[in-house]
Amino acid sequence: MDGPVHVLWVNAGLSCDGDSVSFTAATQPSVEDIVGGLLPGVPDVRFHWPVIAYEVGDDFMAPFHEAAAGRLDPFVLVLEGSVPNEAVKAEGHWAAFGNDPETGEPIPTTEWIDRLAPHAWAVVAVGTCATYGGIHAMEGNPTGAMGLADYLGWNWESKAGVPLVCLPGCPVQPDNLSQTLVALFRHAAGTAPMFRLDDALRPEWLFGPTVHENCDRGGYYEQGDFAPTYGDRRCIVKKGCWGPVVKCNVPKRGWMDGIGGCPNVGGICIGCTMPSFPDAFMPFMDEPPGVKISAVGSGVWGGMISKLRQFTIPTLDEEPRWRRPGRDLLTGHVPTWDTDDEPAGR
Ligand code: SF4
Ligand code: SF4
Ligand code: SF4
Repeated sequence: MDGPVHVLWVNAGLSCDGDSVSFTAATQPSVEDIVGGLLPGVPDVRFHWPVIAYEVGDDFMAPFHEAAAGRLDPFVLVLEGSVPNEAVKAEGHWAAFGNDPETGEPIPTTEWIDRLAPHAWAVVAVGTCATYGGIHAMEGNPTGAMGLADYLGWNWESKAGVPLVCLPGCPVQPDNLSQTLVALFRHAAGTAPMFRLDDALRPEWLFGPTVHENCDRGGYYEQGDFAPTYGDRRCIVKKGCWGPVVKCNVPKRGWMDGIGGCPNVGGICIGCTMPSFPDAFMPFMDEPPGVKISAVGSGVWGGMISKLRQFTIPTLDEEPRWRRPGRDLLTGHVPTWDTDDEPAGR
């Protein structure tokens, strides 16, 4: 590949900019590592992202217009925020980004997607709003919002044959995004193959295991030991944690530089990486369906296991009987020396 890879970051979906904020916290690798060219096999990368851009106004928008005209190549289009359905009303727009140089009118975000996606080397939806619709797309919303997979089509592929990549999370876990972008850049440079996506277009290596499988509190669940209230170190499934059925690596990875991770630090998992979020998980803080059955089962079985462990733990707290002073060697070793001699040094 000749020349740099550009990243055109459109944060003008229906968005709170939380994913932009999140990305600034990436450490493995960091934004600085990427733009500083510190990563082997990664080509020169230029971000066009409002958070770090020095340019403003027309200068900032220029690369987007160049890309839409097919004069900026290659580029990765990043969308943050859900895609409103601009067809559900007669006039105005729900979301827009920059102004049309000819008319001075705002350019709807959907129009940017239509203009840029056909020219993009790859498209990445960042955050649950951009991937599946998220909070703005919940039942009763006025905008008809949806995710990029719904807007472009779940089988959409870029001109380079790269499928839409979805990185859900509200917000996205920062290193999930930086690692995925780097994997894409390496693929663009021909130094790595394309990674596998699951049925919801999430990178498999990041979204394979469930929250529960990675949770620090898993041992308490297994023993049927549940917290009756917040501020307790035990499993919080009875406070409404959906971790057992949600695919997310945040408890393993933490939020920032390995620190945090929802249930690890006492917050219930509300399923924010899932396509059915938030509707299927509401009302938050109620016991998820099935918890009563699984918690009763875990309580009975785990309670029994836990009791047996109470017998085992004290025995493991005792030292072996042979660690004693005295003339007798109690370790089981058969001495090869004369044990009748006076002991040395005593
Ligand atoms: Fe904000 Fe969450 Fe939507 Fe990202 S996914 S734009 S953090 S509401
Ligand atoms: Fe599983 Fe949630 Fe309990 Fe952690 S807190 S062990 S994720 S149910
Ligand atoms: Fe979202 Fe649950 Fe993952 Fe936390 S642990 S980021 S609430 S899916």
